[in-house]
Amino acid sequence: MSKQFSRRDFLKGAAAAGAGAMTMGLTACSPAAAGNSPSGAGTADNMVLSDQTYRNLKWKFEVMPEEYPIPEEKITKTVTHDIIIIGSGMSGLCTAVSTKESGADVRVISAGKRPISRGGSNHAIGSKKQKELGIDYTPDTASGRHAAKVEKHSAACYIDERKWSTWINNSGPAMDWMIDKMASKGLKVCLEPGYVDPDGILTVPAASHSFYNEEVPFGMLFGAPLCAQAYADIFKDMGGEIDFQTRALYLIRDDNNTGRVSAVVAQNLETGEYIKYSANRAVVLATGDFSKDPDMMAKYSPWAWNLYRNSIDTTKVDYDVALAFNGLYPGDGHKMGLWIGAGWQKTYPNAPMINCGAPGPKVNSIDNFWGINLTSDGKRYHNEVTNFSYGAIAILQLPDHIAYSVWDSRYAYIQDIWETFGCSVNNENGILGATPEQMIAGWEADVEAGTCWKANTIEELVDKMGFKGEARANAIESINNYTKYAEQGRDEEYHVNPSVLHPIKTPPFYAARTHFGKDAMTFLCVTGGLRTNEYMQVCEDDDTPIDGLFNTGIMVGDYYAGTYNFVMPGQNLGGVCNCLSYILGRRLADQNFKFRSGRIQRVSTPEDESAQNDGSSMASLGSGDASYNDGVYTGTGSGGMGGDVKVEVTIENGKLASLTYTDNETPEIGGKALPELVEQAVSANAATVDSVSGATMTSTAFKAALADALTKAAK
Ligand SMILES: Cc1cc2nc3c(=O)[nH]c(=O)nc-3n(C[C@H](O)[C@H](O)[C@H](O)COP(=O)(O)OP(=O)(O)OC[C@H]3O[C@@H](n4cnc5c(N)ncnc54)[C@H](O)[C@@H]3O)c2cc1C
Repeated sequence: MSKQFSRRDFLKGAAAAGAGAMTMGLTACSPAAAGNSPSGAGTADNMVLSDQTYRNLKWKFEVMPEEYPIPEEKITKTVTHDIIIIGSGMSGLCTAVSTKESGADVRVISAGKRPISRGGSNHAIGSKKQKELGIDYTPDTASGRHAAKVEKHSAACYIDERKWSTWINNSGPAMDWMIDKMASKGLKVCLEPGYVDPDGILTVPAASHSFYNEEVPFGMLFGAPLCAQAYADIFKDMGGEIDFQTRALYLIRDDNNTGRVSAVVAQNLETGEYIKYSANRAVVLATGDFSKDPDMMAKYSPWAWNLYRNSIDTTKVDYDVALAFNGLYPGDGHKMGLWIGAGWQKTYPNAPMINCGAPGPKVNSIDNFWGINLTSDGKRYHNEVTNFSYGAIAILQLPDHIAYSVWDSRYAYIQDIWETFGCSVNNENGILGATPEQMIAGWEADVEAGTCWKANTIEELVDKMGFKGEARANAIESINNYTKYAEQGRDEEYHVNPSVLHPIKTPPFYAARTHFGKDAMTFLCVTGGLRTNEYMQVCEDDDTPIDGLFNTGIMVGDYYAGTYNFVMPGQNLGGVCNCLSYILGRRLADQNFKFRSGRIQRVSTPEDESAQNDGSSMASLGSGDASYNDGVYTGTGSGGMGGDVKVEVTIENGKLASLTYTDNETPEIGGKALPELVEQAVSANAATVDSVSGATMTSTAFKAALADALTKAAK
């Protein structure tokens, strides 16, 4: 078995660092809970971080627990297949069916007791269902190009467009495949209605596919578990095996975490037995999100964590969690990847999935609302015509996270039929839209239940809403102004499209309050994670793919940025869990498919070369022909595993003659890499040495230290 980087090793590294005394030791901790400051002088309460100390600190989850690796003699069984998939959610099971169907030898293990998923909207572009319903939405139509571009720009382009185009270009055929698979298990497909933005920006045609049957018509919310079960049944029909209640603990990466990922060690949660699952070709992580790990949330999604830390119960993990809010999983797969040298995604922070349910008209008063929204001091705060994710984010920007919505009874008659939650194009699943009378009956029921207010005058309404003093005056003025804007056809404040500006003057009037809590601005889960290339290969920090390791589903890095915005609803299930998993399965089964392999070679630019030629920059230090001033020079590079790496170089006859360094690095990784780096540097007479695989941080710090010293020696 290859040697893993464990907490034990890690602490040994820290002790060595203390002995070396040139830099601080590593500290494995949640920084907030650290007992000592990096300088040793402070306490958790008064710790002050700098760029240097922040880089040198390690988070608890980044270090493999002390009890791993499990001693060989305790591992009672080894199971070998070409492909091992970890996780029985939608992405793991879709990959399993796709690859098994293509002839691969694959086994699935899952900590859960059964196939699992939640929700049920699967976005696709250009499926046969859309064509059947005459929906003009393919990668080449204007609507397809528009949606993809809006999604990308909503994320300020902090997404990996290569994965997105793989999804967009294969979305139709992948969804057709899914429709056929689900049909074989008795599930029908329908399309959720599209979204119409009067300004066109957020407009998306009907594209979220929901699967349903007679017993469960509400596929949008409850269809995904049916699909996961169907995939599992199909997999078993083909002879596939799923080991449930088998929790993956850690990965085995050969050659001291520099080679191929060849196995995963797991524990049977019923018997306690340890099992090694060896993979001849690939291990696929499909273990869901990391929202139940407080430290990972604090590090990677701090905005969401600060808001939801009191709602997410991180003390309980349910590996069978279905339709639940406030967090799902503790990021086991992410951690396993980090322990063997995987990098984290480039985009920061990790995008949370937040949406909003609220009482009121249409689906709710947050989603595409054509009335007025107010703050607690009675003022407007946004353009109300937006989707339920952006609407939620807008409320979260308010100091008290509370918003009030006001509309009138005429609102119900703006449309003949209103979409209802769960309904579908042509009502195929039997869930019907609502008539104006049904809309009003719904509001009356809300008034009865105490979740809405009703009054015959605006003044009476704002009194019932609890506005007092200046806030009351503001609210009345805001509502009257809104009516004025509607009548003049120009919203002077937030520029709502005039076509959906409606005066609020027909009694009775209604109002609702949306406030942060259980039912509104709900946190679902968090997206993203490990550094992942366009082929779903997990990569190191410098983008070098880790041989034999893949991931898929919600945990894939750099697929979302900012916030999961629901602009293309069902994007996660439809895109990354189904389409990209389907493609991954096909590629894994194809012996001839060329995944990326080997260290990423950077191509030098003409600018690099000209800088090298004029000899004035660090690039000149990459030349083996360089000549230096004789003498002894020191250099420092930050960001090594054990803090700064310091070197002392001796230049004789203009060439790099010898080099010593301070070894604060972890013995297993950085410590082993340093001699190799020195050998390379002396023989190259240069600082541009190749990084040692699996020791990226040490290599980078070493190169920086050497460049620093050689710069001082440069002629
Ligand atoms: C309430 C709610 C509704 C949602 N609705 C939608 C929707 O309609 N459309 C949409 O696109 N997205 C939706 N999402 C997001 C949704 O969760 C994901 O799209 C999708 O379920 C993620 O699938 P996955 O396969 O990546 O992970 P998951 O479905 O979370 O599966 C992870 C699997 O890994 C297993 N596992 C975890 N750790 C280990 C371990 N150590 N060893 C072995 N197995 C392990 C788990 O038991 C599970 O089987 C919703 C989320 C929530 C919370």
